[in-house]
Amino acid sequence: MRHFPVFVNVDGRRVVVSGAGETAIAKLRLLLKTRARISVFGADPEPLVRQWAEEGRITLTERPVETGDALCARLFYAANDDATEDARAAAIGHAAGALVNIVDNLDDSQFITPAIVDRDPVTVAIGTEGAAPVLARKIKADLEERLPASLGVLARIGQAFRVRADMLGDAKKRRAFWTKFYFGAGDRALKAGGEDAVRKTLETLLTDGIETRHGPGFVTFVGAGPGDPELLTLKARNALHEADVVLHDKLVPQPVIELARREAIVVETGKKGFGDAWKQDDINALMIDHANRGAHVVRLKSGDPAVFGRLEEELDALDRAGVGFQIVPGITSASAAAASIGRSLTRRGRNASLRIITGHDAEGFADHDWRALARPGEAAAIYMGIKAASFLRGRLLMHGADAETPVTVVENASRTDQRVVAATLGTLPERLRQAGITGPAILLYGIAPRGAAAAVADLADMHHEAEAV
Ligand code: SAH
Repeated sequence: MRHFPVFVNVDGRRVVVSGAGETAIAKLRLLLKTRARISVFGADPEPLVRQWAEEGRITLTERPVETGDALCARLFYAANDDATEDARAAAIGHAAGALVNIVDNLDDSQFITPAIVDRDPVTVAIGTEGAAPVLARKIKADLEERLPASLGVLARIGQAFRVRADMLGDAKKRRAFWTKFYFGAGDRALKAGGEDAVRKTLETLLTDGIETRHGPGFVTFVGAGPGDPELLTLKARNALHEADVVLHDKLVPQPVIELARREAIVVETGKKGFGDAWKQDDINALMIDHANRGAHVVRLKSGDPAVFGRLEEELDALDRAGVGFQIVPGITSASAAAASIGRSLTRRGRNASLRIITGHDAEGFADHDWRALARPGEAAAIYMGIKAASFLRGRLLMHGADAETPVTVVENASRTDQRVVAATLGTLPERLRQAGITGPAILLYGIAPRGAAAAVADLADMHHEAEAV
């Protein structure tokens, strides 16, 4: 860390800006959020700078900064967009004992201005030591989206309530109380009825919190998406943030699981195939047990929980036990697979429907209406289809399917190790063998990769063939 982040008190202090053009305006916009006394020096100021001066928000001197202009300044910005003039101005700042920043000149600056997410009194400062401004902007955008605009007002009102909330006793209840307030109820109340409504909401939440001190837990079924953490929904992220217990499938990748609260109990309930597999009944029992002890359980499933995720079996068990639940849908792997090959799952004139089928069910290789599927213009997203590939090909060819029907295999869709294998129904088993597919994979039957994607896939295939030789 070359730069140590601190928050500088500029209340009523002088901040001097040398320059009155666009570059200066960018800094002034940030500085105007403070209660600093801002002095701007620059010949030929932009109209906006003049306007701010007329409004009394800054003092403007329409000439270049001179020795003595920066007396008592706490911060000094050289923002002239001109290296020579900036160097001259910076010397004046230094002589006055101010901390000096030269805009876009990291090495000669004593401090840098971070990207700021402003929910005053909550301020988030983001810095990358100048290494990756794009990254800072992305993080800022993420936070802007995540933090309700009203957070600042809520924080001010909430502050006065801190002592009252201690009545809730244990830390978990307090956390639940504040989470509800900052990420939902507070914001709604503010929009509906202003600050008074916010105070009333705090009272209500407090009473509820005290009364439900030993209240029941519940289960949120959350779709974790195909693997890329950015394909999580905001709701999924929030649920993971609030969960006391996270029960996740084997296919959910580590970066997603890491979004859970540090204190959360995390259990993998993956079905490992043989021996140490979790039985469905054990998973149900664990889920119900935690909920009955008051926990908010997140049942995290890959993709969309409603697609080959045994969702309803688990819902039935919760119903029988009288445990409440909610469902947060996710992006299913077929969607991610289609996106990765530049195709849509349906297309006018190609396939007007898409079957979602599994290669495998409780009995082994799954049976389907092969005759219907073999007709031209049919398409299917086949889950759990790799082991069943030869069987699928046999059945479909037997029922009259064209051996040239495209079948695209997408392994680890949306993950960094994603692979695409372009095959046809005829070549499918052989292509799969060549490629050595081991990760979870979707078969898109009746859908070929789009132009460039096809070329890439073929190259990848050749590569694998070469490896196999
Ligand atoms: N609920 C999940 C599916 C669970 S069944 C969903 O909506 O995606 C498990 C099967 O999903 C795997 O055998 C594989 O066919 C598919 N799958 C899961 N994640 C995948 C991924 N990242 N890429 C390709 N297929 C995936």
